[in-house]
Amino acid sequence: MRRQDSPLPTSAAVVVIGGGVIGSSAAFHLAEAGVEVVLLERAHLGSGSTSRAAGGVRTQFSDALNVEIARRSLDAFRDFARRPGWDIDLRHVGYLFVLSRESDVEEFQRSVALQNERGLDSRRVTAGEARGLCPLVEGDDILAGAFSPGDGHATPEGVVQGYASAARAHGADIRLNCEVLDIETSGDEITAVVTDQGSIETTTVTCAAGAWSRSCGAMVGVHLPVTPLRRQILFTEGIGGMPAHLPMTIDFESSFYFHREGLGVLMGMSDPHEKPGFSVETTDDWIPGLMDVVRRRAPRLADAGIRGGWAGLYEMTPDRNAIIGEAEGVSRFLYATGFSGHGFLQAPAVGEILRDLVLQRPTFVDISPLAVERFDTTALRPEYNVV
Ligand SMILES: Cc1cc2nc3c(=O)[nH]c(=O)nc-3n(C[C@H](O)[C@H](O)[C@H](O)COP(=O)(O)OP(=O)(O)OC[C@H]3O[C@@H](n4cnc5c(N)ncnc54)[C@H](O)[C@@H]3O)c2cc1C
Repeated sequence: MRRQDSPLPTSAAVVVIGGGVIGSSAAFHLAEAGVEVVLLERAHLGSGSTSRAAGGVRTQFSDALNVEIARRSLDAFRDFARRPGWDIDLRHVGYLFVLSRESDVEEFQRSVALQNERGLDSRRVTAGEARGLCPLVEGDDILAGAFSPGDGHATPEGVVQGYASAARAHGADIRLNCEVLDIETSGDEITAVVTDQGSIETTTVTCAAGAWSRSCGAMVGVHLPVTPLRRQILFTEGIGGMPAHLPMTIDFESSFYFHREGLGVLMGMSDPHEKPGFSVETTDDWIPGLMDVVRRRAPRLADAGIRGGWAGLYEMTPDRNAIIGEAEGVSRFLYATGFSGHGFLQAPAVGEILRDLVLQRPTFVDISPLAVERFDTTALRPEYNVV
């Protein structure tokens, strides 16, 4: 294992920019395949959006590609203790979407059918069944639900550390507190990555810079339309009489969600007044809106003491779907970003895809529809199940 204070390597086959869950998964998959890889992270591992995620891992998506990527990832999360070999506290508590609009019921009917065609056991449930699956949920306005028993949540920090430590064991060089300032090119070829600690000669760069990917793409003239959007989370004190088994529960109309965290819950909701920006300061102005929904949908949570919270960034794209591919116009610039709030759960499969793109071999699923060029055409891939 290389020491963090040893000189920056002068060259590498591949440089990965970003030490979140996507970059560390990519580094692991590449190093495991014998590729000489250097990962550059300007702060510490997981310090971007990853350590601020709620940890939800689910296969319930409306886009077939997302279902395939999520299913592959869930299989990898299940096997994580063996490969790469780390405890990620994976809880298979299931994912419950609570639906109160007719249009959502129809849309989820379609997406559950799509998931079932791909062998997943998600199912539509009645309003009564939804309340039974999550006894904290209330409301006469509930029309139906959608439940996937195999989904759940895990710890994002565990996943990043697991990938990073196994990547190092396979020879990857992971540099923290090392900021990428520029990418040099000659003609349409990448020649080097310039950092605040020196340059690394390379021909291949993988952008896994999360919400900051737009500036990373700009270094090689590639427009990555990723917009940062703050999302906030609260976690509560212990709640008396908490059911031992609580699914990750999402009130789809409001986007309010919660899952069990210790003896309390972790909860969040999108703020319709939030403006794009990089601030991750916590604020109180979204809490009254959250509490309105909590009192209606899960009133037992309304009286729970709040222990704390945090804010992080969703990395939004215009169709709320990831951007994954290899740039046109500049040779060997790969990108995997813009996960629009579901990047944690996709990371294992995306790391595998990046490895195969680097090695120019077939990916397990055709990811060409996720290329950034889709925004120049009418071939957008809107994902409905984003909260
Ligand atoms: C409140 C909240 C809840 C969420 N809940 C979930 C969830 O339940 N399930 C789920 O799947 N997803 C969830 N997400 C989304 C998830 O966190 C992200 O999609 C995922 O972490 C993206 O990972 P990443 O590696 O692409 O980005 P990041 O984790 O942001 O990593 C990018 C890294 O790049 C580094 N970087 C940027 N520019 C440079 C540079 N020039 N040089 C060096 N380093 C650089 C940054 O420092 C950062 O560490 C949530 C997000 C938030 C904010």
